[in-house]
Amino acid sequence: MEHRDKVRLLEADRRYVWHPFTQMKDYAERDPVLIERAEGVFLYDADGKAYYDTNSSWWVNVHGHAHPRIREAVNRQMAKMDHVMFAGLTHAPGIELAERLTALTPDGLTKVFYSDNGSTAVEVALKMSFQYWQQTGCPDKTTFAYVEHSYHGDTIGAVSVGGVDQYHSVFRPLLFGAHKVPSPDPRGRQDGDAEAAAAQALEAVRHLFEASAGEIAALIVEPMIQAAGGMILHPASYVRGLRELCTQYGVHLIADEVAVGFGRTGRMFACEHAGISPDFLCLSKGLTAGMLPLSVTMTTAGIYDAFYDDYAKLKTFTHGHSFTGNPLACAVALESLRIFEEEGVLEQAAAAASHLQQAAARLAADPGVAHLRGLGMVAAFDLYRDRDSGERYPWEERIGFRVYEEGLQQGLFLRPLGDTIYFWLPLCTTAAQIDDILGRTEKVLQRMSR
Ligand code: PMP
Repeated sequence: MEHRDKVRLLEADRRYVWHPFTQMKDYAERDPVLIERAEGVFLYDADGKAYYDTNSSWWVNVHGHAHPRIREAVNRQMAKMDHVMFAGLTHAPGIELAERLTALTPDGLTKVFYSDNGSTAVEVALKMSFQYWQQTGCPDKTTFAYVEHSYHGDTIGAVSVGGVDQYHSVFRPLLFGAHKVPSPDPRGRQDGDAEAAAAQALEAVRHLFEASAGEIAALIVEPMIQAAGGMILHPASYVRGLRELCTQYGVHLIADEVAVGFGRTGRMFACEHAGISPDFLCLSKGLTAGMLPLSVTMTTAGIYDAFYDDYAKLKTFTHGHSFTGNPLACAVALESLRIFEEEGVLEQAAAAASHLQQAAARLAADPGVAHLRGLGMVAAFDLYRDRDSGERYPWEERIGFRVYEEGLQQGLFLRPLGDTIYFWLPLCTTAAQIDDILGRTEKVLQRMSR
């Protein structure tokens, strides 16, 4: 890109654009990176400099950017039909994708409701669960349970079941009440025992349900990885335990796999680690391989049946969005699933993931790196000023922001969550690229400790 075009665009960005999750004042004196092109695991800025997309463009990208098969799928669909309403009308991409998803996801999830982002997939699950109980003789089940440090999106319902104070506390007066249960985060324990942390967290859920299951419609969880809350990993036994408790006490289990779905944890869906089926499964991000906005809320025939009645009985689920079931996005999602199948993506990613988990261990040599953890193509650690004495960086020092800035110097797009640094890699990342990313990260860490 010509230098003067770059300057003009960045000036206009500063003047007109309000970016998400961004303190805009941070950019009064510096520019965001103007990305002009993306291919494979790389982003290229206006000067042609490459950056590894280490967070898969906010956890969405699966097969790398500019995948030729995805591009062709969009073009093919665009030539036929762009967008049509999805009530009273239907279309092949929407039908075929629903059929494919019911075959791929855990047993029993046979109904697919479309929306267009992760937050609305969660809103749909919350509203469906609420309405289900209203229509099945349990009108007191009007509240929800959620896990401390969880994040389910930014719309008001999703924020109501969100447990990250930094993002959510300002909105508290607006939100509906919900019961918070402790996170199974093993980092707070002396012994660091994840199974023990899970057992303790499950006990708290049991206590809550014993006292209040009669008023709780559903419990919502991010299975295996609480992502935005700080890449908190929990064992499969936790997810299994939640399934058992929800079944025992008559509470729906909502699995929010918006972030972890589609292979990121080493399985197609994170619930597979635990061998369980939720009552609702929310998917987005990787659904279209990170190319177009689309999401689904999947549920069981039993829940669907409670809404199936004569029109006059008012049991309809009256919820929908303009872009519900967008045919372009559905066509892309179908093509992504074909790529998974035909190109052995999960097998290839399994090898890359085991390389990532082994190779990341070397980061622990840095005296600032603590709680190194990972699953599949995700790895994370917490940055301390001094791990041995337990000294953290003061909040005002914004160590995460410094890591982001130094990462850019090293050709890495890192986007830490506070002082938790993480990789959330596209499934197509090779072992050699992983080594390169880790080597560059070591350089970033060296600069931080100076
Ligand atoms: N659930 C989870 C677990 C997420 O990580 C996110 C987004 N980071 C969402 C829901 C919300 O998705 P969206 O940003 O598409 O609304």
